[in-house]
Amino acid sequence: MDVTDLLRLLALDPADLKPAPQRSASQEDSAARLGPTPGPVPCVACGDPARSTRIIDTPDHGRRWLDLCRDCLLATADRRRPTVPLAATLAVLRDAAEEAGVTVRILVDPPPGA
Ligand SMILES: [Zn+2]
Repeated sequence: MDVTDLLRLLALDPADLKPAPQRSASQEDSAARLGPTPGPVPCVACGDPARSTRIIDTPDHGRRWLDLCRDCLLATADRRRPTVPLAATLAVLRDAAEEAGVTVRILVDPPPGA
C-alpha cells in the first residue's frame, strides 16, 4: 500500500503528523518514541495508545511519524499473499498420492479457472 492510499484509508492529513528526522529511524528511536514517558503516544488515527511507529515519506509534507495502535496497524497491513502456483501444487499432490498408492480428492476454493 503506498503512502497516499495509507493516509486516505486512515483519513489522515499528513500536515497533522509530527515531522520525523531525515535520517532512518533506528529501533531505539522507535522505542523512545513509543516509550512510557511522558505517556503513551496516541494512535494518529483513533487516539488509542500507539503500539507501532514508523516514518513515512509524504508527497507534500516530507517525512512524518506514523504512530498506530494495534487495530489500525492490522487494518492497514498489506495482506497480499504470494501467488500460489496452483497447477504445480496439484501436480505434487497427485504425484504424492500416486506414490503412496492412495486415491485423494482435492477440493480447491475457488476452482481452477474460476
Ligand atoms: Zn488506532
